[in-house]
Amino acid sequence: MKIMKFGGTSVGKPERMHQVAELIQKDDEAKIVVLSALSGTTNALVEISNNLAGFDKQAAKHNIDKLETHYHDFIPGLVQTADARNAANRIIDEHFEFLNIILKISFSEALNKDILAQGELMSTKLFSVYLQEQGINHRLLPALDFMSIDTYEEPQVKEISNKLAPLLATHKDVKVFITQGYICRNARGEVDNLKRGGSDYTASLIAAAINASVCEIWTDISGMHNNDPRIVEKTVAIEQMSFDEAAELAYFGAKILHPASIWPAQMYKVPVKLLNTMQPEDKGTTIQEMAGSTGVKAIAAKDGIIAINIRSSRMLLAYGFLRKVFEVFEKYRTSIDMITTSEVAVSVTIDNDAHLDVIVKELGALGTVEVDRDETIVSIVGNEIAETKVILASLFESIKDIPVRMVSYGGSRHNISLLVPGKYKQQTLQLLNKGLFNL
Ligand code: ADP
Ligand code: ASP
Ligand code: MG
Repeated sequence: MKIMKFGGTSVGKPERMHQVAELIQKDDEAKIVVLSALSGTTNALVEISNNLAGFDKQAAKHNIDKLETHYHDFIPGLVQTADARNAANRIIDEHFEFLNIILKISFSEALNKDILAQGELMSTKLFSVYLQEQGINHRLLPALDFMSIDTYEEPQVKEISNKLAPLLATHKDVKVFITQGYICRNARGEVDNLKRGGSDYTASLIAAAINASVCEIWTDISGMHNNDPRIVEKTVAIEQMSFDEAAELAYFGAKILHPASIWPAQMYKVPVKLLNTMQPEDKGTTIQEMAGSTGVKAIAAKDGIIAINIRSSRMLLAYGFLRKVFEVFEKYRTSIDMITTSEVAVSVTIDNDAHLDVIVKELGALGTVEVDRDETIVSIVGNEIAETKVILASLFESIKDIPVRMVSYGGSRHNISLLVPGKYKQQTLQLLNKGLFNL
Protein backbone atom coordinates (compact mmCIF):
# COMPACT_ATOMS: atom_id res chain seq x y z
CA MET A 1 0.00 0.00 0.00
CA LYS A 2 1.28 3.50 -0.73
CA ILE A 3 0.59 7.07 0.37
CA MET A 4 -0.07 9.89 -2.10
CA LYS A 5 -0.31 13.36 -0.55
CA PHE A 6 -1.49 16.33 -2.61
CA GLY A 7 -0.89 19.88 -1.39
CA GLY A 8 -3.04 22.99 -1.67
CA THR A 9 -2.09 24.01 -5.20
CA SER A 10 -2.52 20.42 -6.39
CA VAL A 11 -6.20 20.56 -5.44
CA GLY A 12 -6.70 24.34 -5.72
CA LYS A 13 -8.51 24.32 -9.06
CA PRO A 14 -11.16 21.95 -10.46
CA GLU A 15 -8.85 20.85 -13.28
CA ARG A 16 -6.09 20.10 -10.78
CA MET A 17 -8.46 17.85 -8.83
CA HIS A 18 -9.25 16.07 -12.12
CA GLN A 19 -5.51 15.59 -12.61
CA VAL A 20 -5.17 14.18 -9.08
CA ALA A 21 -7.93 11.69 -9.89
CA GLU A 22 -5.92 10.56 -12.92
CA LEU A 23 -2.68 10.28 -10.96
CA ILE A 24 -4.20 8.08 -8.27
CA GLN A 25 -5.41 5.65 -10.95
CA LYS A 26 -2.06 5.24 -12.69
CA ASP A 27 -1.24 2.00 -10.91
CA ASP A 28 -3.11 -0.80 -9.20
CA GLU A 29 -1.46 -0.53 -5.82
CA ALA A 30 -3.86 0.19 -2.97
CA LYS A 31 -3.37 3.71 -1.68
CA ILE A 32 -4.29 6.25 0.95
CA VAL A 33 -4.67 9.66 -0.66
CA VAL A 34 -4.03 12.55 1.75
CA LEU A 35 -5.39 15.93 0.68
CA SER A 36 -4.68 19.47 1.89
CA ALA A 37 -7.25 22.21 1.79
CA LEU A 38 -7.67 24.11 -1.51
CA SER A 39 -4.84 26.66 -1.75
CA GLY A 40 -5.58 29.85 0.15
CA THR A 41 -8.25 28.25 2.33
CA THR A 42 -6.23 27.71 5.50
CA ASN A 43 -4.90 31.28 5.28
CA ALA A 44 -8.48 32.51 4.92
CA LEU A 45 -9.59 30.42 7.91
CA VAL A 46 -6.70 31.79 9.99
CA GLU A 47 -7.88 35.28 9.11
CA ILE A 48 -11.46 34.48 10.09
CA SER A 49 -10.22 33.12 13.42
CA ASN A 50 -8.13 36.24 13.96
CA ASN A 51 -11.16 38.41 13.17
CA LEU A 52 -13.17 36.55 15.79
CA ALA A 53 -10.37 36.62 18.36
CA GLY A 54 -10.27 40.39 17.82
CA PHE A 55 -14.06 40.68 18.24
CA ASP A 56 -14.45 41.88 14.64
CA LYS A 57 -17.52 39.88 13.64
CA GLN A 58 -18.19 42.07 10.63
CA ALA A 59 -14.79 41.29 9.11
CA ALA A 60 -15.25 37.61 9.98
CA LYS A 61 -18.63 37.55 8.23
CA HIS A 62 -17.17 39.28 5.17
CA ASN A 63 -14.34 36.73 4.96
CA ILE A 64 -16.68 33.78 5.48
CA ASP A 65 -18.93 34.98 2.65
CA LYS A 66 -15.96 35.53 0.35
CA LEU A 67 -14.69 32.01 0.99
CA GLU A 68 -18.16 30.54 0.50
CA THR A 69 -18.44 32.19 -2.91
CA HIS A 70 -15.06 30.76 -3.85
CA TYR A 71 -16.27 27.23 -3.04
CA HIS A 72 -19.59 27.56 -4.82
CA ASP A 73 -17.73 28.87 -7.88
CA PHE A 74 -15.42 25.86 -7.71
CA ILE A 75 -18.18 23.26 -7.99
CA PRO A 76 -19.42 23.76 -11.61
CA GLY A 77 -15.85 23.22 -12.86
CA LEU A 78 -15.42 20.14 -10.69
CA VAL A 79 -18.55 18.09 -11.38
CA GLN A 80 -21.07 18.08 -14.22
CA THR A 81 -24.16 16.06 -13.28
CA ALA A 82 -27.00 17.69 -11.36
CA ASP A 83 -26.77 15.02 -8.65
CA ALA A 84 -23.08 15.60 -8.08
CA ARG A 85 -23.48 19.38 -8.09
CA ASN A 86 -26.29 19.16 -5.57
CA ALA A 87 -24.26 16.87 -3.35
CA ALA A 88 -21.24 19.18 -3.53
CA ASN A 89 -23.34 22.28 -2.83
CA ARG A 90 -24.95 20.59 0.17
CA ILE A 91 -21.50 19.79 1.60
CA ILE A 92 -20.33 23.36 1.19
CA ASP A 93 -23.59 24.74 2.64
CA GLU A 94 -23.15 22.55 5.73
CA HIS A 95 -19.62 23.73 6.40
CA PHE A 96 -20.52 27.38 5.91
CA GLU A 97 -23.56 26.97 8.11
CA PHE A 98 -21.11 25.88 10.80
CA LEU A 99 -18.86 28.88 10.15
CA ASN A 100 -21.88 31.19 10.37
CA ILE A 101 -22.99 29.62 13.65
CA ILE A 102 -19.60 30.22 15.25
CA LEU A 103 -20.12 33.92 14.60
CA LYS A 104 -22.68 33.72 17.38
CA ILE A 105 -20.63 31.83 19.98
CA SER A 106 -17.76 33.12 22.03
CA PHE A 107 -14.35 32.45 20.60
CA SER A 108 -11.99 29.94 22.21
CA GLU A 109 -8.84 28.06 21.28
CA ALA A 110 -10.87 24.88 20.72
CA LEU A 111 -13.19 26.75 18.36
CA ASN A 112 -10.17 28.11 16.52
CA LYS A 113 -9.06 24.54 15.80
CA ASP A 114 -12.54 23.63 14.58
CA ILE A 115 -12.45 26.56 12.18
CA LEU A 116 -9.01 25.62 10.84
CA ALA A 117 -10.19 22.03 10.20
CA GLN A 118 -12.88 23.08 7.72
CA GLY A 119 -10.50 23.35 4.74
CA GLU A 120 -9.35 19.73 4.66
CA LEU A 121 -12.84 18.47 5.49
CA MET A 122 -14.26 20.30 2.46
CA SER A 123 -11.49 19.41 -0.01
CA THR A 124 -11.70 15.68 0.71
CA LYS A 125 -15.50 15.61 0.52
CA LEU A 126 -15.52 17.54 -2.77
CA PHE A 127 -12.90 15.21 -4.21
CA SER A 128 -14.97 12.23 -3.12
CA VAL A 129 -18.03 13.63 -4.92
CA TYR A 130 -15.95 13.95 -8.08
CA LEU A 131 -14.60 10.40 -7.79
CA GLN A 132 -18.11 9.16 -7.28
CA GLU A 133 -19.32 10.99 -10.37
CA GLN A 134 -16.48 9.33 -12.29
CA GLY A 135 -17.46 5.92 -10.92
CA ILE A 136 -14.14 5.46 -9.13
CA ASN A 137 -14.52 3.12 -6.18
CA HIS A 138 -13.12 4.68 -3.01
CA ARG A 139 -13.76 5.33 0.70
CA LEU A 140 -13.41 8.47 2.77
CA LEU A 141 -11.41 7.77 5.93
CA PRO A 142 -12.02 10.54 8.47
CA ALA A 143 -8.61 11.58 9.83
CA LEU A 144 -10.30 12.51 13.10
CA ASP A 145 -11.00 8.79 13.63
CA PHE A 146 -7.32 7.80 13.69
CA MET A 147 -4.89 10.75 13.62
CA SER A 148 -4.04 11.86 17.15
CA ILE A 149 -1.52 13.77 19.25
CA ASP A 150 -0.68 13.12 22.89
CA THR A 151 -0.64 15.50 25.85
CA TYR A 152 2.67 16.93 24.59
CA GLU A 153 1.07 17.51 21.17
CA GLU A 154 3.22 14.74 19.72
CA PRO A 155 1.77 12.14 17.36
CA GLN A 156 2.54 8.51 18.27
CA VAL A 157 2.86 6.17 15.29
CA LYS A 158 1.78 3.11 17.33
CA GLU A 159 -1.41 4.83 18.49
CA ILE A 160 -2.24 5.92 14.96
CA SER A 161 -1.53 2.45 13.63
CA ASN A 162 -3.77 0.85 16.28
CA LYS A 163 -6.67 3.05 15.26
CA LEU A 164 -6.07 2.91 11.52
CA ALA A 165 -5.54 -0.83 11.01
CA PRO A 166 -9.09 -1.90 11.95
CA LEU A 167 -10.57 0.87 9.77
CA LEU A 168 -8.62 -0.38 6.74
CA ALA A 169 -9.45 -3.99 7.56
CA THR A 170 -13.18 -3.33 7.31
CA HIS A 171 -12.72 -2.27 3.67
CA LYS A 172 -10.40 -4.96 2.35
CA ASP A 173 -11.85 -4.67 -1.17
CA VAL A 174 -11.20 -0.91 -1.40
CA LYS A 175 -8.10 0.24 -3.30
CA VAL A 176 -8.44 4.00 -2.86
CA PHE A 177 -8.86 5.67 0.52
CA ILE A 178 -9.14 9.45 0.82
CA THR A 179 -8.27 11.26 4.03
CA GLN A 180 -7.59 14.73 5.38
CA GLY A 181 -4.08 16.00 5.95
CA TYR A 182 -3.28 18.38 8.81
CA ILE A 183 -6.19 17.65 11.15
CA CYS A 184 -6.15 15.37 14.17
CA ARG A 185 -7.55 14.90 17.66
CA ASN A 186 -5.66 16.01 20.74
CA ALA A 187 -5.39 14.20 24.07
CA ARG A 188 -8.66 15.80 25.20
CA GLY A 189 -10.43 14.36 22.16
CA GLU A 190 -10.91 17.79 20.59
CA VAL A 191 -10.23 18.67 16.98
CA ASP A 192 -6.65 19.89 16.60
CA ASN A 193 -3.99 20.07 13.90
CA LEU A 194 -0.36 19.28 13.10
CA LYS A 195 0.55 22.96 12.55
CA ARG A 196 0.83 24.81 9.25
CA GLY A 197 1.97 22.65 6.36
CA GLY A 198 1.02 19.62 8.46
CA SER A 199 -0.44 17.52 5.65
CA ASP A 200 3.09 16.31 4.82
CA TYR A 201 3.37 15.16 8.43
CA THR A 202 0.02 13.34 8.15
CA ALA A 203 1.29 11.54 5.04
CA SER A 204 4.52 10.45 6.68
CA LEU A 205 2.78 9.36 9.89
CA ILE A 206 0.30 7.23 7.94
CA ALA A 207 3.13 5.84 5.81
CA ALA A 208 4.90 4.79 9.02
CA ALA A 209 1.72 3.49 10.65
CA ILE A 210 0.87 1.14 7.77
CA ASN A 211 4.44 0.44 6.66
CA ALA A 212 3.71 1.85 3.22
CA SER A 213 5.85 0.99 0.19
CA VAL A 214 6.40 4.69 -0.51
CA CYS A 215 5.21 8.07 0.71
CA GLU A 216 4.64 10.34 -2.30
CA ILE A 217 4.37 14.07 -1.62
CA TRP A 218 2.84 15.70 -4.71
CA THR A 219 3.27 19.46 -4.88
CA ASP A 220 3.82 22.37 -7.29
CA ILE A 221 7.55 21.93 -7.89
CA SER A 222 9.63 19.02 -9.20
CA GLY A 223 11.31 18.01 -5.95
CA MET A 224 13.60 19.57 -3.38
CA HIS A 225 15.74 22.30 -4.93
CA ASN A 226 19.28 23.17 -3.93
CA ASN A 227 18.16 26.58 -2.61
CA ASP A 228 14.94 28.42 -1.85
CA PRO A 229 13.30 29.01 -5.27
CA ARG A 230 11.15 31.78 -3.81
CA ILE A 231 14.25 33.83 -3.06
CA VAL A 232 17.04 32.70 -5.35
CA GLU A 233 16.66 32.82 -9.12
CA LYS A 234 18.69 29.85 -10.33
CA THR A 235 17.92 26.69 -8.41
CA VAL A 236 17.95 23.05 -9.47
CA ALA A 237 16.13 19.94 -8.28
CA ILE A 238 18.03 17.26 -6.33
CA GLU A 239 17.36 13.68 -7.41
CA GLN A 240 18.52 11.78 -4.33
CA MET A 241 18.95 12.68 -0.72
CA SER A 242 19.15 10.93 2.62
CA PHE A 243 16.54 11.12 5.36
CA ASP A 244 19.06 13.03 7.51
CA GLU A 245 19.64 15.62 4.81
CA ALA A 246 15.93 16.05 4.10
CA ALA A 247 15.11 16.29 7.81
CA GLU A 248 17.68 19.05 8.32
CA LEU A 249 16.43 20.98 5.29
CA ALA A 250 12.80 20.65 6.36
CA TYR A 251 13.60 21.67 9.92
CA PHE A 252 15.71 24.61 8.80
CA GLY A 253 13.13 26.15 6.51
CA ALA A 254 12.72 24.30 3.18
CA LYS A 255 9.00 24.92 2.92
CA ILE A 256 8.39 22.00 0.56
CA LEU A 257 8.32 19.71 3.63
CA HIS A 258 6.76 20.23 7.08
CA PRO A 259 9.63 20.47 9.62
CA ALA A 260 8.75 17.20 11.38
CA SER A 261 7.62 15.24 8.34
CA ILE A 262 10.72 13.11 7.83
CA TRP A 263 11.16 11.26 11.13
CA PRO A 264 8.17 8.88 10.84
CA ALA A 265 9.19 7.75 7.34
CA GLN A 266 12.81 7.46 8.42
CA MET A 267 12.02 5.52 11.56
CA TYR A 268 9.84 3.04 9.67
CA LYS A 269 12.12 3.00 6.58
CA VAL A 270 9.55 4.22 4.07
CA PRO A 271 11.12 6.05 1.10
CA VAL A 272 9.68 9.51 0.46
CA LYS A 273 9.27 10.94 -3.04
CA LEU A 274 8.69 14.61 -3.81
CA LEU A 275 6.80 14.91 -7.10
CA ASN A 276 5.16 17.60 -9.22
CA THR A 277 1.40 17.28 -9.85
CA MET A 278 1.68 19.62 -12.83
CA GLN A 279 4.65 17.72 -14.33
CA PRO A 280 4.16 14.15 -13.12
CA GLU A 281 6.81 12.73 -15.48
CA ASP A 282 9.63 14.71 -13.83
CA LYS A 283 11.94 12.66 -11.64
CA GLY A 284 11.49 14.74 -8.50
CA THR A 285 13.44 13.86 -5.37
CA THR A 286 13.78 10.46 -3.74
CA ILE A 287 14.56 10.52 -0.03
CA GLN A 288 15.84 7.33 1.55
CA GLU A 289 18.46 6.08 3.98
CA MET A 290 21.40 6.50 1.61
CA ALA A 291 22.25 9.97 0.39
CA GLY A 292 23.37 9.06 -3.11
CA SER A 293 26.35 11.41 -3.01
CA THR A 294 28.50 13.49 -0.70
CA GLY A 295 29.09 17.25 -0.70
CA VAL A 296 26.70 20.18 -0.43
CA LYS A 297 23.14 19.26 -1.42
CA ALA A 298 21.10 22.29 -0.52
CA ILE A 299 20.70 25.48 1.44
CA ALA A 300 17.66 26.47 3.45
CA ALA A 301 16.76 29.41 5.65
CA LYS A 302 14.56 29.71 8.69
CA ASP A 303 13.28 33.16 9.67
CA GLY A 304 11.99 34.69 12.86
CA ILE A 305 14.83 33.35 14.97
CA ILE A 306 15.59 34.82 18.38
CA ALA A 307 19.19 34.83 19.59
CA ILE A 308 19.77 34.89 23.35
CA ASN A 309 23.18 35.64 24.78
CA ILE A 310 23.94 34.91 28.43
CA ARG A 311 27.15 36.43 29.72
CA SER A 312 28.51 35.60 33.13
CA SER A 313 31.93 35.84 34.71
CA ARG A 314 30.75 33.06 37.01
CA MET A 315 30.65 30.77 33.98
CA LEU A 316 34.41 30.95 33.89
CA LEU A 317 35.57 27.42 34.69
CA ALA A 318 32.27 26.59 36.38
CA TYR A 319 30.79 23.19 35.65
CA GLY A 320 27.01 22.92 35.80
CA PHE A 321 26.47 26.35 34.23
CA LEU A 322 25.22 25.05 30.90
CA ARG A 323 22.93 22.61 32.69
CA LYS A 324 21.30 25.52 34.52
CA VAL A 325 20.85 27.37 31.24
CA PHE A 326 19.32 24.35 29.51
CA GLU A 327 17.02 23.65 32.44
CA VAL A 328 15.33 27.00 31.91
CA PHE A 329 14.53 26.12 28.29
CA GLU A 330 13.41 22.64 29.27
CA LYS A 331 11.08 24.02 31.93
CA TYR A 332 9.29 26.08 29.28
CA ARG A 333 9.40 23.34 26.63
CA THR A 334 11.27 25.61 24.23
CA SER A 335 13.72 23.88 21.96
CA ILE A 336 17.11 25.34 21.11
CA ASP A 337 18.25 25.28 17.48
CA MET A 338 21.81 26.60 17.59
CA ILE A 339 24.29 27.01 20.39
CA THR A 340 27.79 28.47 20.68
CA THR A 341 29.84 28.97 23.80
CA SER A 342 32.91 30.85 24.93
CA GLU A 343 34.61 31.03 28.31
CA VAL A 344 32.30 33.74 29.58
CA ALA A 345 29.20 33.57 27.43
CA VAL A 346 26.79 31.27 25.73
CA SER A 347 24.53 32.10 22.78
CA VAL A 348 21.50 30.04 21.85
CA THR A 349 18.72 30.47 19.32
CA ILE A 350 15.04 29.63 19.60
CA ASP A 351 12.21 29.97 17.09
CA ASN A 352 9.34 30.23 19.53
CA ASP A 353 8.78 33.32 21.63
CA ALA A 354 5.75 32.00 23.57
CA HIS A 355 7.68 31.95 26.85
CA LEU A 356 10.46 34.39 26.00
CA ASP A 357 9.72 36.82 28.82
CA VAL A 358 9.88 34.23 31.60
CA ILE A 359 12.87 32.53 30.03
CA VAL A 360 14.78 35.82 29.92
CA LYS A 361 13.76 36.59 33.49
CA GLU A 362 15.00 33.23 34.81
CA LEU A 363 18.21 33.37 32.77
CA GLY A 364 18.77 36.78 34.36
CA ALA A 365 19.64 34.95 37.59
CA LEU A 366 22.59 33.33 35.77
CA GLY A 367 24.11 36.36 34.08
CA THR A 368 23.51 39.32 31.81
CA VAL A 369 21.01 38.44 29.09
CA GLU A 370 20.74 40.04 25.66
CA VAL A 371 18.02 39.22 23.13
CA ASP A 372 18.14 39.82 19.36
CA ARG A 373 15.05 39.19 17.28
CA ASP A 374 14.52 38.81 13.53
CA GLU A 375 17.58 36.70 12.91
CA THR A 376 17.73 34.01 10.22
CA ILE A 377 19.39 30.60 10.36
CA VAL A 378 20.95 29.66 7.05
CA SER A 379 21.72 25.95 6.89
CA ILE A 380 24.05 24.35 4.42
CA VAL A 381 23.16 20.68 4.21
CA GLY A 382 24.86 17.74 2.57
CA ASN A 383 26.15 14.29 3.36
CA GLU A 384 29.53 14.50 5.13
CA ILE A 385 30.01 18.19 4.37
CA ALA A 386 31.67 18.66 7.73
CA GLU A 387 34.48 16.42 6.47
CA THR A 388 34.81 18.12 3.11
CA LYS A 389 37.30 20.88 3.88
CA VAL A 390 37.15 22.72 0.58
CA ILE A 391 33.46 23.42 1.22
CA LEU A 392 34.25 25.40 4.36
CA ALA A 393 36.76 27.52 2.49
CA SER A 394 34.40 28.42 -0.37
CA LEU A 395 31.50 28.88 2.04
CA PHE A 396 33.21 31.56 4.11
CA GLU A 397 34.90 33.10 1.09
CA SER A 398 31.52 33.60 -0.62
CA ILE A 399 29.90 35.37 2.34
CA LYS A 400 32.82 37.41 3.57
CA ASP A 401 30.75 40.63 3.49
CA ILE A 402 27.89 39.23 5.58
CA PRO A 403 27.92 39.97 9.33
CA VAL A 404 27.58 36.39 10.56
CA ARG A 405 26.42 36.32 14.18
CA MET A 406 26.87 32.61 15.01
CA VAL A 407 28.29 29.51 13.33
CA SER A 408 27.41 25.93 14.15
CA TYR A 409 29.74 23.36 12.70
CA GLY A 410 30.55 19.82 13.68
CA GLY A 411 27.32 19.07 15.53
CA SER A 412 26.25 16.81 12.72
CA ARG A 413 28.09 15.48 9.71
CA HIS A 414 25.62 16.94 7.30
CA ASN A 415 24.93 20.47 8.47
CA ILE A 416 26.70 23.79 8.85
CA SER A 417 24.45 26.55 10.14
CA LEU A 418 24.99 30.29 10.19
CA LEU A 419 22.98 32.90 12.03
CA VAL A 420 22.64 36.19 10.15
CA PRO A 421 20.42 39.24 10.69
CA GLY A 422 17.13 38.65 8.83
CA LYS A 423 17.75 41.51 6.43
CA TYR A 424 20.81 39.70 5.04
CA LYS A 425 18.93 36.50 4.27
CA GLN A 426 18.37 37.00 0.56
CA GLN A 427 21.91 38.21 -0.06
CA THR A 428 23.38 35.30 1.93
CA LEU A 429 21.34 32.72 0.00
CA GLN A 430 22.33 34.26 -3.32
CA LEU A 431 26.02 34.48 -2.45
CA LEU A 432 26.06 30.86 -1.27
CA ASN A 433 24.28 29.76 -4.45
CA LYS A 434 27.10 31.26 -6.44
CA GLY A 435 29.89 30.22 -4.10
CA LEU A 436 28.83 26.62 -3.47
CA PHE A 437 26.88 25.67 -6.60
CA ASN A 438 28.25 28.16 -9.11
CA LEU A 439 24.64 29.02 -10.08
P1 ADP B 1 2.01 22.24 -0.84
O1 ADP B 1 0.86 23.18 -0.81
O2 ADP B 1 1.97 21.29 -1.98
O3 ADP B 1 2.26 21.58 0.48
P2 ADP B 1 4.13 24.12 -0.27
O4 ADP B 1 3.85 25.51 -0.71
O5 ADP B 1 3.93 23.82 1.17
O6 ADP B 1 3.26 23.13 -1.19
O7 ADP B 1 5.60 23.68 -0.67
C1 ADP B 1 6.05 23.83 -2.00
C2 ADP B 1 6.81 25.14 -2.15
O8 ADP B 1 7.96 25.11 -1.31
C3 ADP B 1 7.34 25.40 -3.51
O9 ADP B 1 6.40 26.00 -4.36
C4 ADP B 1 8.55 26.31 -3.22
O10 ADP B 1 8.24 27.66 -3.45
C5 ADP B 1 8.80 26.16 -1.73
N1 ADP B 1 10.18 25.80 -1.41
C6 ADP B 1 10.95 26.40 -0.46
N2 ADP B 1 12.16 25.87 -0.41
C7 ADP B 1 12.20 24.88 -1.35
C8 ADP B 1 13.20 23.98 -1.81
N3 ADP B 1 14.43 23.95 -1.25
N4 ADP B 1 12.89 23.14 -2.82
C9 ADP B 1 11.67 23.15 -3.37
N5 ADP B 1 10.68 23.98 -2.99
C10 ADP B 1 10.93 24.85 -2.00
N1 ASP C 1 -3.87 23.30 4.86
C1 ASP C 1 -2.81 23.31 5.85
C2 ASP C 1 -1.98 24.56 5.68
O1 ASP C 1 -2.17 25.31 4.75
C3 ASP C 1 -1.99 22.08 5.85
C4 ASP C 1 -1.19 21.82 4.59
O2 ASP C 1 -1.52 22.33 3.53
O3 ASP C 1 -0.24 21.07 4.66
O4 ASP C 1 -1.12 24.80 6.50
MG1 MG D 1 3.10 22.27 2.27
